[in-house]
Amino acid sequence: EVESPTPHVVMMPSPGMGHLIPLVEFAKRLVLLHRFTVTFVIPSGGPPSKAQISVLSSLPSAIDHVFLPPPSLNDLPPQTKAETIIVLSVTRSLPSLRDQFKSMVTQRNLVAFVVDQFGTIAFDLVREFNVPPYVYLPCSATTLSLILHMSDLDKSVVGDYTDLTEPIRLPACSPIPAKALPDPFLDRKDDSYKYFLESMSRFGLAEGIFVNSFPELEPNPINALKSEESYPPIHPVGPIVKIDSSGSEEGIECLNWLDEQPHGSVLFVSFGSGGTLSSIQNNELAMGLEMSGQKFIWVVRSPHDKEANASFFSVHSENDPLQFLPEGFVERNRGRGLVLPSWAPQAQILSHGSTGGFLSHCGWNSTLESLVNGVPLIAWPLYAEQKLNSVILTEEIKVALKLKMNEESGIIEKEEIAKVVKSLFESEEGQKVREKMEELRAAGERAVGEGGSSSRTLLEVVQKWRNKVSR
Ligand code: UDP
Repeated sequence: EVESPTPHVVMMPSPGMGHLIPLVEFAKRLVLLHRFTVTFVIPSGGPPSKAQISVLSSLPSAIDHVFLPPPSLNDLPPQTKAETIIVLSVTRSLPSLRDQFKSMVTQRNLVAFVVDQFGTIAFDLVREFNVPPYVYLPCSATTLSLILHMSDLDKSVVGDYTDLTEPIRLPACSPIPAKALPDPFLDRKDDSYKYFLESMSRFGLAEGIFVNSFPELEPNPINALKSEESYPPIHPVGPIVKIDSSGSEEGIECLNWLDEQPHGSVLFVSFGSGGTLSSIQNNELAMGLEMSGQKFIWVVRSPHDKEANASFFSVHSENDPLQFLPEGFVERNRGRGLVLPSWAPQAQILSHGSTGGFLSHCGWNSTLESLVNGVPLIAWPLYAEQKLNSVILTEEIKVALKLKMNEESGIIEKEEIAKVVKSLFESEEGQKVREKMEELRAAGERAVGEGGSSSRTLLEVVQKWRNKVSR
């Protein structure tokens, strides 16, 4: 029997580390478990970042990458929202994507094109080359449901979403309060809404949609999505999280420090790849952590002036973030608290036995990295779909504790922070979310294990793709 050629998949992540990492992890599954090859075609608004290069250069040899030349974004005003920059970077990269495709389609084994939520704008182009386009959505099934309903909402909601007095009800999902909607919904007149809507409306054109969730995590939303015939096939393949990249030197000291701490005693504090706090909030968090008496590792960023996603496009800030901490903070907390400027080996920290809680911005990747390690959360959402995730995690799945904001000042105060941190480690409520997270850890392990629902789902698509090359 002659072996058929290796199936090849092209993936296009939209700009930002938070978009690159999930697709990379999906690619690793195809390569390591199913022996595919993958090419990353990467659009961006500027030259490749250090963080991007370090991720891409550590990949298995079956995954290669090409950076598309950055298109000019000079015409965009300074206050342009992230979603606009992302979609325009992709849109303006389409001519170079076309050139790439011309050179790649001569290979008979090109079976699929996979993008994240901001890449659907490339679907028409790849269809011209007879390559079926797919979405890999590194988000919850509830978020997918919202995305697939966005066109309808756009038509049925009159005026601003923020004026809605009733929460939004999607089939079989928890009600979504208007203020928990992803950022672009919040200002309908801003361009970011238009670009976001356009990208999301095109999900229906996909040949299939992968979503990083699994039935035990979101049973009702997943069933509802699967039973809707007008949607493309939905493939829940999660939890897909970072495969431990041990061997990397970065942050090795904090892992050594963790080795010396008691089991489950450390709170990990991080706001994802792009999150930053205001100066006042940053201070309040520092004092809250100190007051809590809990051991912690905190990934500290320089505070922002206005936007919570200030470090989205470059995670390493220009200024030393530690200079913004309250005076004497580092010295006073030596031995008990560790501060890491800008970036941490998060997956390794969460999988370390000494880590017992995660104060998180509720990015979906962070959420799942916590889940696969059975680490319960404290929800501190900032932007994008994080508030929606926070609602699901605190109200429905019940694996996270809530922090109350002082509505007048818009600040989460140190006393509140200290109280909730203590509660996660010491109270009955904390114990409950811990047990629930442990249950889901086990369920997630089964889902991606041999014969599990996510493994079978991925295998079905993989077989379909294989058949394309063997014919
Ligand atoms: N991450 C990391 N170190 C950091 C911050 C983030 O390794 O200091 C990784 C994290 O493990 C996760 C991703 O970056 O895989 C962040 O994705 P998520 O969806 O949680 O949030 P986003 O960055 O998209 O807001």
